Amino acid sequence: MSRHVIVTGASRGIGAAIADHFASLGDRVVALSRSGSAPSTCAKSFTVDVSDSEQVNAAVKAAIGEFGPVDVCVVNAGITRDGLAMRMSDEQWREVIATDLDGAFYTARATMASMVRARQGSIIFIGSISPFVGVPGQANYAAAKAGLVGLARALAKEVATRGVTVNVVAPGLIETDMTSDLGSSKDQMAAMIPMGHTGQPSDIAGVVGFLASSQARYITGAVLAVDGGLALGY
Ligand code: NAP
Repeated sequence: MSRHVIVTGASRGIGAAIADHFASLGDRVVALSRSGSAPSTCAKSFTVDVSDSEQVNAAVKAAIGEFGPVDVCVVNAGITRDGLAMRMSDEQWREVIATDLDGAFYTARATMASMVRARQGSIIFIGSISPFVGVPGQANYAAAKAGLVGLARALAKEVATRGVTVNVVAPGLIETDMTSDLGSSKDQMAAMIPMGHTGQPSDIAGVVGFLASSQARYITGAVLAVDGGLALGY
């Protein structure tokens, strides 16, 4: 059966790989991003700033109007604005919380009702191992991504009896635009990965695909690190 899948931040990087993965399974993928661009495999794309709840609600409403109830929602859009906390501006803090945490809540809230009504569905948040290992310069990002875990677990319990699962995938160091300009700190981090190499967006996409599949129907409220072992022991 072709599912209706919404992916935020699907224009590039991990989100684009996730969108391609679901499309390759025959699903109808709706992509949301600031730029509005999306892999050609997507059925539709919307230009949306996820930190604006009205834009999110309007896009999800239009997607449901065209493709029916949402079967899978992948909350992936995210940004970093790194800097040591003592020098971090209010704007750096707020921008990351607004996109990575507020935006995640707005997206999940907009898609949940249709899943609850259909008594089935899957919400997958793309978190990070940053809050588990503690990365200097990422106070804003770590706080937002830690918040996703609490958000996911609260939602998981709210909708558990309705056949809707809510999980978090926490990537380690993945090769995308987000990690392309980390310089020497990237090499330092990569050297700490037990498997000895960074990950690819497709490594995340496959796990997200699994969590959205019927094989994972008894998994909810889980946080799954996909990181080559980087967060082992935390
Ligand atoms: P990326 O290559 O920088 O892509 C970010 C995506 O998010 C883009 O599609 C971008 O859209 C979208 N986006 C950003 N702000 C948005 C907003 N306000 N509204 C709508 N869309 C917005 O990043 P990535 O590495 O693929 O990261 C994807 C997710 O994985 C993020 O949540 C990130 O925190 C998480 N993650 C990544 C890594 C890693 O190592 N790469 C590790 C842990 C977690 P535009 O193209 O329109 O700007």
